[in-house]
Amino acid sequence: MYEADSVWEFEMAGSVTFGTGAVDELAAEAGKRDASSVLVVTDEGLVDAGVVSRVTDSLGAGCSCEVFDGVESDPPVAVFERAIDRAREVDPDLIVGVGGGSSIDVAKTTSVVARHGGDILEYVAPPIGGGSAIPGPDVPTIAVPTTAGTGSETSPVTVISLPDRNLKVGISSRHQYPDLALIDPLLTISLPPSHTAFSGMDALSHAIEAYVTRRFDAKPRPEDPLDRPDYGGRTVVSDQFARTAIELVADGLRRAVDNGRDVEARRNMSLASFLAGVAFTNAGLGGTHAAALSVAGEHDTPHGLTIALLLPEVMRYNAPSALGRYAEVASLLGERVAEDGEDEAAEKAAVAVQRLSDDVGIPSGLAELGVREDEVGTLADNAMQLERLLVGNPRRLEREDLETILRRSL
Ligand SMILES: [Zn+2]
Repeated sequence: MYEADSVWEFEMAGSVTFGTGAVDELAAEAGKRDASSVLVVTDEGLVDAGVVSRVTDSLGAGCSCEVFDGVESDPPVAVFERAIDRAREVDPDLIVGVGGGSSIDVAKTTSVVARHGGDILEYVAPPIGGGSAIPGPDVPTIAVPTTAGTGSETSPVTVISLPDRNLKVGISSRHQYPDLALIDPLLTISLPPSHTAFSGMDALSHAIEAYVTRRFDAKPRPEDPLDRPDYGGRTVVSDQFARTAIELVADGLRRAVDNGRDVEARRNMSLASFLAGVAFTNAGLGGTHAAALSVAGEHDTPHGLTIALLLPEVMRYNAPSALGRYAEVASLLGERVAEDGEDEAAEKAAVAVQRLSDDVGIPSGLAELGVREDEVGTLADNAMQLERLLVGNPRRLEREDLETILRRSL
């Protein structure tokens, strides 16, 4: 199935410590890095919920610990700048990001800009930013996720909102991989059912989009690394991560939403989020993410919720170009497909995702989030700009196809 001469790469966070109670390893991990001054980057809600004190207590008396709790969701550039200013005052030798994707993103970029200086927009791609490469390693960073979905704990990418331009931009650099992803499912126990559902559906979409994305490893690679796609396409390794993540979501998401204290379900979701994050960071995403980023750009809708509403119709559109893959997804989701033809099995995958969405309380369509039929054209235009996501989609997507998908998802 994979040609012997294909060339592929695989990257992830420096190391991973996973399991219930893993947060107790923090003092030892700080010690390994000779850290005496730590900056925790997080949001106020987690301070109030007692999650941050759980983390600072486990750092122990050996470190002086400062907390920056000014992270907001979809953090605008001003939040990054405030965190960077704080890091310049504290001059930490370890930064610990505690929270969902937003806090971990702010921690990753703070660690780079605090070390190398300059303005944050210098590191954003042109035409918005200066396009400077990050020159070298950052302040050592540990990512401690308190949600299960974004995969930010093991990705090199951060997303920055520019509210005055209605835009989101990214910084991607291998120097932004956290040195350690410390994943303790017990820290997700207080996540409310709605956020558990949104982030879980996001993790599922990462796994499914990575599993069906195109392969690039069999093509000759452009000599210049800058000419290569952002993502490497699926490989035999990303496939294994994606498959396991899909099975874990099928087993864990309904249970984690119904009973937040179901530790086994929480563990499955934290593991699924991590594995799916590693899979998509390497393989890439597709049409669901392109359409969802466009919708969220206009309507400020939560990422995972928007994703959940688009995923089934993108799967239906893509199925003819990747029937066998979607048939496997159906089976990983627990559907019986042994006696079905591939097209029937692929349809079962979309139906299973739709049913899971319904069961965990996702609304019935984008219209409920305020998306109107008359803006479908604009949303499709904006999604078409996201070339780095569309290039991996298994079936070619034109503007009219995106319009059809968006209309069917209303
Ligand atoms: Zn996502």
